[in-house]
Amino acid sequence: MLLIPGPVEVPKSVREASTLVINHRSEGFREIVTGLEKLMNKHFSSTRVALLTGSGTLAVESMIYSLTKPGEKVISFPYGEFGRRLVDSLKRRGTNVKVYEKPVGNTFSLEEIKQAIDENKDATTVAIVHNETSGGVAFRNLEDVVNVVKRKGLKILVDSVSGFAAYKILVNEWKIDAIATGSQKALASVPGMAFVALSKDGISELVTENLPSYLDISLHLKFQDKGETPFTPAVGVFNASLRAAELLEIEGIENRWRRHEACVRFVREVLSSYGFSLFGNESNFSNTVVAGVPPIPDFRKKLKEFNIEISGGMGELKEKIIRIGLLGVVDDRAVNKLLQATAKILGKEYDYRPPEECKLPEPLREEVEWS
Ligand code: PLP
Repeated sequence: MLLIPGPVEVPKSVREASTLVINHRSEGFREIVTGLEKLMNKHFSSTRVALLTGSGTLAVESMIYSLTKPGEKVISFPYGEFGRRLVDSLKRRGTNVKVYEKPVGNTFSLEEIKQAIDENKDATTVAIVHNETSGGVAFRNLEDVVNVVKRKGLKILVDSVSGFAAYKILVNEWKIDAIATGSQKALASVPGMAFVALSKDGISELVTENLPSYLDISLHLKFQDKGETPFTPAVGVFNASLRAAELLEIEGIENRWRRHEACVRFVREVLSSYGFSLFGNESNFSNTVVAGVPPIPDFRKKLKEFNIEISGGMGELKEKIIRIGLLGVVDDRAVNKLLQATAKILGKEYDYRPPEECKLPEPLREEVEWS
């Protein structure tokens, strides 16, 4: 049972779809590209979604390279490992980054963001991590953050690699310029695809000069207009992501946001009743990752004896916390197994029941075997 923050368990039909190998310049593949962009636009409520072969890092870096220029002033607010990686990518691009950093576990208030923008009148862009996977915390108020930035007239670029589909995100309505995600997280597809969703403003800001071709989002979108990709794509991974996007459509994106929130809240409640100390403040707890310190040593190793795999900490939290990934198609059955095993390890009773909202609807439920 894979309960790490990605890759995640995938539904049977997604796994099967991933084995497809066909000509990428064929009508069959054109249908996949067109169908996938259409569904991803719907799920993001965006105008275009670039579909790239690669990992979440490619999504973030193509977003940065295609929406900033060397020398441009960018403000960033890291609060963990992925926030620092975002800053690193911005520096590699040659932007002039003003960094406001906080220790992992925190986020920034709207007031702090406003003030930072006021202190940097020459800045054009704000770049943030939506859901900081390394600490199980998030900007839960993404809409308000976007609002503050846009009202000040700056662009906003968002790394939501581990957030998309687990929180409400409305790219066009909120006017997010660009937001990046990957296939192996809450979309519940196989690893290997990077997505960058854009609003109309975001599209008009795309740059093309002096870009490595694979990071040039305009080039990808131009080919997608014909149902193609500029270079040989991971055909099977595209097909798997199309199936995952269809299953997301069947569940309903709002239900998926709710399911993530309900499952994760329940797991936190039970774990804290067992003596876990949860990482971060309650106001910014993540919908996809539970981070904390178990009441006994070697908890992760003991869980492995139940065939359940979770993650450890990253960066400065290595060996200090555990992280449980509850994203994708995690449901009441998965949560029960995790918590029953935890209770056994700790010598406790498990007499809790996950909420209804934590259940997967059919046909997704029968497509996932949590054994
Ligand atoms: N950003 C965030 C917030 C992530 O959680 C991850 C991966 O977990 C990445 C970026 C990088 O994604 P990948 O490992 O797929 O390149």
